[in-house]
Amino acid sequence: MESLRLAARKSGRSEIRIKDVVIGGSAVVLIGGPCAVESAEQMQRAAQTVRQAGGRILRGGVYKPRTSPYSFQGLGVEGLRYLADAAAAEELLTVTEVLDEESLRSVSGQVDIIQIGARNMQNYQLLKLAGRLDTPVILKRGLAATVEEWLLAAEYILAGGNARVILCERGIRTFEPSTRNTLDLSAVAVAQELCHLPVIVDPSHAAGRRELVPALAKAAVAGGADGLLIEMHPNPAEAKSDGAQSLTPEEFLRLAGEVETLARAVGRSVQPVARVRT
Ligand code: PEP
Ligand code: MN
Repeated sequence: MESLRLAARKSGRSEIRIKDVVIGGSAVVLIGGPCAVESAEQMQRAAQTVRQAGGRILRGGVYKPRTSPYSFQGLGVEGLRYLADAAAAEELLTVTEVLDEESLRSVSGQVDIIQIGARNMQNYQLLKLAGRLDTPVILKRGLAATVEEWLLAAEYILAGGNARVILCERGIRTFEPSTRNTLDLSAVAVAQELCHLPVIVDPSHAAGRRELVPALAKAAVAGGADGLLIEMHPNPAEAKSDGAQSLTPEEFLRLAGEVETLARAVGRSVQPVARVRT
């Protein structure tokens, strides 16, 4: 792909360093947390579970792109504080989604990583703004985007001067209705073949229901994903967003153990440092 001036893989693949976390290295990085930040206590409990599981990054949306305007839209800046405080207490990094210039400004300097979601993958103005930042970006694949379009979206951010882009496959729309989206593991392999950037997988938004998340997560690691982004809620039945696909803390811990075994089987580790409290 000629137009991938900066994203094209020439030889090796890139490792992206964010504080003491490396994505794209030998370790598979685990990112977990609720779809949406709802309260300080919810985030504290989520952070404790992520740390216990050996995860390094806490997720939580404060600006939510919801299908219905009547659904919970996120806590905004108030939620940023809950996310940051909970992560700091457990020595985790943070990631949250931005939707537009205003939300980008408001999270600037408050989180370690910003997420550009599937619905905004082709918001070229937002990609340009993210390119000017010094903050790493998780760029999700659009619901109906080809791998080429996804990589060109990453190219926008790189072209702006921000080299720290992490690609995230989260399922695409197909004719198959039994899952929310169809997890496209081929895209992970293709993206890694064409592009040097790390590629992580979000099995939660692909599956749409928690029962399927472990199988998809494990398949992703077996297939070479550099990390997993998984929704987990202290009490999924009461989640204000994506409860059906959110793992319970117990399920998240069990899955993390399985992922660790699997990572070793494919010549990787889960974390460079043991994070479990003694
Ligand atoms: C999310 O991570 O909660 C989210 C909205 O993801 P996506 O953009 O993949 O739908
Ligand atoms: Mn979600």
